[in-house]
Amino acid sequence: MFENLSERLSGVFDRLTKQGALSDEDVKTALREVRVALLEADVSLPVARDFVKAVQDKATGQAVTKSITPGQQVVKIVHDELQHVLAGNDENPGELKVDNAPAPILMVGLQGSGKTTTTGKLAKRLTEKNGKRVLMASLDIYRPAAMQQLQVLGQQIGVDTLPIVAGETAVQIAKRAKQQATLGGYDVYMLDTAGRLQIDEVLMQEVEDVRDVVNPRETLLVVDGLTGQVAVEVAEEFDGKIGISGVVLTRMDGDGRGGAALSMRAVTGKPIKFVGLGEKMDALETFEPDRVAGRILGMGDIVALVEKAQETIEAEQAERMMKRFQKGRFNMNDLKMQLEQMIKMGGMEGVMGMMPGMAKMSKQVKDAGMDDKVLKQQIALIQSMTKLERANPQILQASRKKRIAKGAGMEVADLNKLLKMQRQMSDMMKKMGKMGKGGMLKQAMK
Ligand code: GDP
Repeated sequence: MFENLSERLSGVFDRLTKQGALSDEDVKTALREVRVALLEADVSLPVARDFVKAVQDKATGQAVTKSITPGQQVVKIVHDELQHVLAGNDENPGELKVDNAPAPILMVGLQGSGKTTTTGKLAKRLTEKNGKRVLMASLDIYRPAAMQQLQVLGQQIGVDTLPIVAGETAVQIAKRAKQQATLGGYDVYMLDTAGRLQIDEVLMQEVEDVRDVVNPRETLLVVDGLTGQVAVEVAEEFDGKIGISGVVLTRMDGDGRGGAALSMRAVTGKPIKFVGLGEKMDALETFEPDRVAGRILGMGDIVALVEKAQETIEAEQAERMMKRFQKGRFNMNDLKMQLEQMIKMGGMEGVMGMMPGMAKMSKQVKDAGMDDKVLKQQIALIQSMTKLERANPQILQASRKKRIAKGAGMEVADLNKLLKMQRQMSDMMKKMGKMGKGGMLKQAMK
């Protein structure tokens, strides 16, 4: 689907010259290609247009990071925007609402989309990962083979299925599943509805009736990720009639490169929760926007390169700071940078949690009140200082202290603690600085 996008882009980018900032013309040329490629990949026109507009706004005038070309930088911006659109505001795509046992999950979609397979995959996941007791039931009264397929799957993965009773309607089966799930103490029951080759009224009405009987916690639409624009139309149709809570894109292991995912997210506004990556029962993954974005672009390496370049810049900043430390200088500006760095790394807790053997300590740190909140308060105190005060904290007398504390909505005692911390760090820096270049600090920063 997206085969040509990376080629197209590299063609354009080869022509772009190295400059200080991305020019309007560079960006426009690159984006024209992005737009054509998206359209060719079956992304709908309004989605492609909005997408390109968003990238253009972000890219124009952005300073070019050292050691990469403007073209590479555009790729990174395109990648980030793809990721942004794909992710929406969904925090945990892989989590399903399965509280209030027995929680009904309604599986809907066209025939052949991978609905039954996905029902099995999800049941397995809920059982193994979430420790849920799951009951599966097939409502496909038109195809006895489909009922048996689910039963066989259940045996394979060790998940119970509702016994098959001939002659029942879909609603009757749904009611029986609900009853058995309640009596049997199941946490979740999954209803695999009948699919058709195309959406038709009878099918929709049947799914609606089932929905009204069980009042599902999740209604998941299973669509074939290879069908591009068609998948989006199917999703709109189902969402309009039934109301879906999320989407599972199957066959993402195939040749398609995720074009459907982009339109799907942008058009329906529904979260993509999982992707199917094969026929096996464990070939299901939580939807990862950045991975899919990389796939659409087919340029993961460039994105990694740009990230590396940005890291280098941060390393350069650290190097500059180290030089200051070696001279024994450590004022409030330095402290602020340190505190901000810590928040970026996930706060005290995060920093310590990353170090082997320190996980227990990180809890103590939290209990002692040294969490993100404190770091932010300390930064607020520093922000409340004038430039002169930040560079020379020793000039802080009672009246200045009162003003600063008040400005940050804190007490003078809090400010005193911060000042003490800065003095101690400054002393430590001086000592380390005396150990000379290549001393302890350099070692520690490696
Ligand atoms: P249903 O008619 O919607 O219930 O579709 P099925 O679950 O029977 O799946 C139809 C075919 O697609 C089967 O051969 C599945 O093994 C296959 N299938 C389902 N999901 C995936 C997937 O994520 N990747 C691949 N490659 N095949 C899949």
